[in-house]
Amino acid sequence: MDAIFIPQLTKAPERTEEIQVQEFLPGLETLTPVRGFVRVQHQGNFLQVFGQAETIITCTCNRCLQQYNQRLALNTQEIIWLDETANQAEDLPLEREVAVEDLLETLSPEGYFYPSEWLYEQMCLAIPQRQLCDRKCPGIKPVAASNSDELVDRRWSSLENLKKQLPES
Ligand SMILES: [Zn+2]
Repeated sequence: MDAIFIPQLTKAPERTEEIQVQEFLPGLETLTPVRGFVRVQHQGNFLQVFGQAETIITCTCNRCLQQYNQRLALNTQEIIWLDETANQAEDLPLEREVAVEDLLETLSPEGYFYPSEWLYEQMCLAIPQRQLCDRKCPGIKPVAASNSDELVDRRWSSLENLKKQLPES
C-alpha cells in the first residue's frame, strides 16, 4: 500500500482516494490476507478515513488455552486533524501535560497518510480482548477428575474393609 501525499489528495476527484487492500499487513499475524479497502477524503482541515476489511486470525482461548480461528471484520471511520504543528509535537519535553486535543490523531497537512499503518492499528483495536473458543467453553478440563473418583472409591472400599475387620459391637 502506497503512502498518500496529503496535498496531492486535494487534486484527486472528490478529494478522495480509495485503496483496495488484499495483502498481509506487516506485524499482523493473520491466516488469510487482509481484504477490503481504505478510503481517505480531504475535508480541508481534516482527513476523513473510512475502512472496511476482514481477515482470519488465530486466537488463544482465555479459558481452555486452545487455539481457534476467528474472523476479524472491520467497519470503521476516523477523523484525522491536519495541523502544521503535528510534526513538532515530538520535540516538546515529555513531562508536559498532555492536552486532550493531543490525544486525537493529527498529521501535518504537508505530510503523508499511511493507509497500511492506519489499517494495522484499526485491526489491532478490533482484536477481541477476551478470547473464547466458545461462549460455553468449560475451561481447562480437570484432567484428574476420573482418577480422583477412583481414589474416593478406593478409600470407601478400604473403609468398608476396615469395618469388616472390626469386631461387631
Ligand atoms: Zn476454550
